[in-house]
Amino acid sequence: MQNKLGNPKETIEIIQKYQFVFQKKFGQNFLIDPHVLDKIITAAGIGPEDCVLEIGPGIGTMTQYLAEHARQVVAVEIDSNLIPILGETLNDYPNVTIINDDILKVDINHLVDEHNGGNPIKVVANLPYYITTPIIMGLFESGVPIDNITVMVQKEVADRMQVGPGSKDYGALSLAVQYYASPYIVANVPPNCFIPRPNVGSAVIRLTRYKEPPVQVTDPALMFRLIRASFNQRRKTLQNGLNNSPELSYTKEDIAEAIAGLGLPASVRGEALTLEQFAALANYFTEHF
Ligand code: SAM
Repeated sequence: MQNKLGNPKETIEIIQKYQFVFQKKFGQNFLIDPHVLDKIITAAGIGPEDCVLEIGPGIGTMTQYLAEHARQVVAVEIDSNLIPILGETLNDYPNVTIINDDILKVDINHLVDEHNGGNPIKVVANLPYYITTPIIMGLFESGVPIDNITVMVQKEVADRMQVGPGSKDYGALSLAVQYYASPYIVANVPPNCFIPRPNVGSAVIRLTRYKEPPVQVTDPALMFRLIRASFNQRRKTLQNGLNNSPELSYTKEDIAEAIAGLGLPASVRGEALTLEQFAALANYFTEHF
């Protein structure tokens, strides 16, 4: 029986046994705190019927926990040096499938069809921080059937996903995440819960996928172009932000009319708008121009 990972002793032993060298470029910080692992499993609500996608299993620490609670775990790991280690640490868990690939290149819809008959999966990960946003947005935008995503991210990024207008952290990521999911910060996690220690604080955030988006918008792609344009030039007014965007081709007059049409002052900044207001703005452009 393989020893349970998730503590400094077992983690260091397995790393030394395989002479594993941490790769900074893959954002490798392995969890060594069993309390944090328990919190993640509980927050994700993993049960015996669930199929879980784990992104970046590392040496398999969280994978062991997931395998004990879920029906099936599919773990995608980019670093081929970790594959023999995972072969040992997950040897006792026949319900785990390891895929040696880049998560950004994997057809996740196909994985879900294959392993869960196209039914919603749960995603759990201690994410490589260098690609947090593309991973999360990729999961939402590709329309993969997902129940919830429970992930460890940089603390500052968790804050950005959760806040609304009026905060300095509010931005395109907040709006994108909140269009698809309801965010909830589960726990803050200090650097000493990892080997090696990251330079930043971390947090576990759960994103529960909405069945229907919270706002009605005819052209979501247009809404996201408007959002990007507004936050690309944060200090400018909404009017100037939309006017200067290479992604939009409305005239100055059209933009002024749309802003007034929503009952907003001409001097309003994009960072003051709620998701509902961005949806209404997109719908105004679709209906009038
Ligand atoms: N889950 C492990 C844990 O909690 O101890 C490791 C977490 S570590 C922060 C991130 C993991 O993601 C590493 O194992 C790294 O090699 C892997 N990784 C990095 N980029 C990846 C990518 N593009 N696709 C799949 N895995 C990736």
